Amino acid sequence: MIPARYGASRFPGKLMQDLGGKPVIVRTYEAAKATGLFDAVYVVTDSDVIFKEIEWHGGQAIMSQKEHDCGTDRIAEAVAEMDVDIVVNVQGDEPFTSKEGLAQVLSVFDAPDADRIDLASLMTEIQDWREISDPNAVKVVVDKENYALYFSRSPIPYPRDKNTAVQYFKHKGIYAFRKQALLDFYNLPMTILEATEKIECIRFLEYGKRIKMAISNTQGIEIDTPEDLVRANKVLKEEKRLPINNKYRNFPMVPKVVYGKGCFEQLASILGPQRKEKAPFIYLVDDVFQNDQELIQRIPLRFNDKLIFISSFEEPKTEQVDVLVKSIKTEFSYRPSGIIGIGGGSILDLAKAVAIMLTNKGQASEYQGWDLVKNKAVYHVGIPTISGTGAEVSRTTVLTGPEKKLGINSDFTPFDQVVLDPELTTGVPKDQWFFTGMDCFIHCVESLNGTFLNEFSKSYGEKAYDLCKEIFLNPELDDETAREKLMMASWHGGMSIAYSQVGVAHAMSYGLSYVLGVKHGIGNCIVFDHLIDYYPFDVALFKEMKQAHGIELPQGICKDLTESQMDTMVKIALSLVPLWENALGPDWELKINADKLKALYAKI
Ligand code: NAD
Ligand code: ZN
Repeated sequence: MIPARYGASRFPGKLMQDLGGKPVIVRTYEAAKATGLFDAVYVVTDSDVIFKEIEWHGGQAIMSQKEHDCGTDRIAEAVAEMDVDIVVNVQGDEPFTSKEGLAQVLSVFDAPDADRIDLASLMTEIQDWREISDPNAVKVVVDKENYALYFSRSPIPYPRDKNTAVQYFKHKGIYAFRKQALLDFYNLPMTILEATEKIECIRFLEYGKRIKMAISNTQGIEIDTPEDLVRANKVLKEEKRLPINNKYRNFPMVPKVVYGKGCFEQLASILGPQRKEKAPFIYLVDDVFQNDQELIQRIPLRFNDKLIFISSFEEPKTEQVDVLVKSIKTEFSYRPSGIIGIGGGSILDLAKAVAIMLTNKGQASEYQGWDLVKNKAVYHVGIPTISGTGAEVSRTTVLTGPEKKLGINSDFTPFDQVVLDPELTTGVPKDQWFFTGMDCFIHCVESLNGTFLNEFSKSYGEKAYDLCKEIFLNPELDDETAREKLMMASWHGGMSIAYSQVGVAHAMSYGLSYVLGVKHGIGNCIVFDHLIDYYPFDVALFKEMKQAHGIELPQGICKDLTESQMDTMVKIALSLVPLWENALGPDWELKINADKLKALYAKI
């Protein structure tokens, strides 16, 4: 049981303070749970805010019925009606609670003298005189068998002869009670020594209970002051600092994927095992399907699952993600079992971003960039209904924010499950099919011609490139086969850039999209059409494909831009350093600059 009072006298609201992306109390709860030592873990609180936060994170919380003077009373009330044997009190402000300490306090009840023990607690040796004399550190003295004799805020024992070696022990606020001892404590009035020292466990001694102390030297950090919090955040950062991506990239891939015409039918059985009690699945579905009763009927909505139709008229924005996350949090008190995106790159990216932001605090724009996400996202599933972007397999979710268009690129971004059913792409309009398909083609061209290329990327890139040629230049190919092939080309194209990068067309297309709102697929095509100097062979091939499919691209879209619009566009494009580095090499800055880029934009 973790007693959690919202208002702490020394550091108000401390349990809800941020510790590495989660509130302190959630960290404590998760640490206690992770020890695997308990049949159940509960937070017992007087606060609505804490109660909701714990449930939101999938934990168990109990609301106190009455006002309580102390944490022990709080948990006593909570266990009064429970069928329990031993109750361990873990302090809410001890987020680094270690398994070792808890195991030690419990092991006391396995010892031969267990029958004589009413409760057990921990102590740790301290040597620093500042700590010994600090009244916030409660000292304890014990008898030969480690039964507590007295607790005090004074240094005890007092060393009259300054040369005697004295051992000092600090009391750690972890207790394991027999249920009866806990209830006795609750029912017996406070005693004089307890009231004087303001140390709860003195009451047990005053009523003659036996407290067995175990020694633990694990160093925890209690969060008593704002300074403690700063320190704890540092510790957490150090623990997390992994040797990532310094030389070889170590990236996650989609762990589960199902492929085949009609495999969408299997969705219910795929999701079943992921469902958590009372926690809904949220479906984000492209609103192009709003009137498609046949598809809607096939979405396996159960219990309180929710379907939200989303327009992909504009590409996803960070603000849109924040609004969606807020509405989900307002409507449901349990964190969703999963987020399921059904649509094109826009909806898939939105689903990934929402899944991330449900477990990470703040705003989506704070996470645009590389490896900024702290917590694992909720389970998320991607179901593409148009092929080409590779968003179903990638490690990023591209968002337009207040300052930039940039992905949330992280190990937690990729889907946990992807459903590849080529049948779902049947209704895609012809032009859109081409534009999104060309995204795949351009991914391959940029990856295969980039300086980051290695055999890993090449093997995927070449396969997707060949598939694209077949799909867009072989007039014999029937529609169904073309759809099946493009679905796999998209996947391979995405895998190809996982280890390399895109290049010039993407950098410029991001600029277009940021300033003019031109969508990704068509934007890439508009730009690529003019990149004969960079990708001569493939631009020629692209023009052939364009012709074969009767595609007309808008011309001269940048000619009426104001100077400041042009500057923004160039700035956005040039800020995408890895793309330029891949396209032009480490000395890319010698090969492209703002003026050259402006001239290029002016042409398109
Ligand atoms: P999209 O999702 O914007 O959809 C394009 C159009 O096709 C929309 O009008 C949509 O309603 C329609 N559509 C989708 N499926 C349909 C179907 N089955 N029948 C009829 N109409 C259908 O387009 P997209 O090209 O797939 O995605 C573009 C987005 O993907 C951009 O936002 C881009 O930034 C992003 N993207 C992401 C990645 C990544 O790795 N995360 C990679 C490339 C692109
Ligand atoms: Zn792309």
